[in-house]
Amino acid sequence: MAILVVGSVALDSVKTPFGDRKEALGGSATFFSYSASFFHPVNLVGVVGEDFPEEHIGLLNGKGIDTAGLKAIPGGKTFRWEGYYDYDLNEAHTLSTCLNVFDVFQPELPDSYRDSEYVFLANIDPELQIHVLDQVRAPKLKVCDTMNFWIEGKRDKLIELLGKVDIITLNDAEARQLTGEPNLVKAARKIISWGPEHVVIKKGEHGALLFSGDGVFSAPALPIEEIYDPTGAGDTFAGGFVGYLAREGTLDEATLRRAMIYGSVMASFNVEDFSLDRMKRLGAGEIEERFGRFIELVKFD
Ligand code: AMP
Repeated sequence: MAILVVGSVALDSVKTPFGDRKEALGGSATFFSYSASFFHPVNLVGVVGEDFPEEHIGLLNGKGIDTAGLKAIPGGKTFRWEGYYDYDLNEAHTLSTCLNVFDVFQPELPDSYRDSEYVFLANIDPELQIHVLDQVRAPKLKVCDTMNFWIEGKRDKLIELLGKVDIITLNDAEARQLTGEPNLVKAARKIISWGPEHVVIKKGEHGALLFSGDGVFSAPALPIEEIYDPTGAGDTFAGGFVGYLAREGTLDEATLRRAMIYGSVMASFNVEDFSLDRMKRLGAGEIEERFGRFIELVKFD
C-alpha cells in the first residue's frame, strides 16, 4: 500500500547567495513525494489552481506518484511561497506566503486511500492535517511536519495534532519556538510528553537528531561543497525517512536509525540545486553510494 501524503504543492520564488528561481515547482508534499518515491509508491493529496503547469503533474506521475488526490480548482490560484537565504543557509526568510486555494481546501480522501498504512502530514495547516488523518482507518505509522508559520498561527491545533501522531519532524528553531525551550533535549522531551513516541529534530548542515523515550541518535549531515538552495531539504529528508520505513515495513530502532541516514542522504542531494532539479537527475545507485559515504563519515575505531 502506497504512502499517503498531504501538504502543500507550490510555486516557489527563492533567492540564495548562489542564484534565484521564480515560480519554480515546490511545496512540502511535492518535495516529500518525489524523495519518497525512490523507496516506495506515494499517493499525494493536495490542491492547486488553474495556473499550475501541467508539466509538473507529468513530472510527478513520471515518478509513479499517484495524483488522483491532487485537486485542481477552476479559477483558483496555486499556493505560493517567496523567500530568501543569506550565507547562513540554515535559516529561511519568508517574504510572502499566499495560501490561495489552500484557504478553502477540505480534502476528502478517495476510498482507496483510506486504508493507507504510512501517512505523512507534510507542512500545511494543522487543521487540514487532522482532517486528513481522521479519514484514515488504521494507519500503522503517522508522521507530521510543521513550520514557524503554523506554530505562530495555529499552535493549539498543532498541539492537538501531536496527540494523534507517532513521529514529528521539525527543525531546531521550530522545536525551540514550539516548546519555549532553548535546549533541544528538553524541547524534544516536552514534545514527546504531548504525544509522539519519537521526535526528529533537523539541524540543517549540522545533521539531525532522533529522540525516542530516553534515547537519542545523531545522524550527521554530509559536508557538501556545492550547496545552491536548501529549500525542501526538510521535506526530502522526511521523504527518505518515511519512504525507507515503508519499504522495510518495520519500525524497530535499527530501522529507524537507518531511515535517519536515508533521510539525510536525500536532503544532501536536494540542496545541490534549485527546486527539484537535483532529484530529477538522481539515480538509485547514487543513493546507495552516498549512504556508504555516511557510514565512512562516522566510522572510527
Ligand atoms: P522545507 O523543507 O522546510 O525547506 O520546505 C520548503 C517548502 O515549504 C517550500 O517548497 C514551500 O513551498 C513550502 N512552504 C513554505 N511555507 C509554507 C506554509 N506556511 N505551509 C505549507 N508549506 C509551506
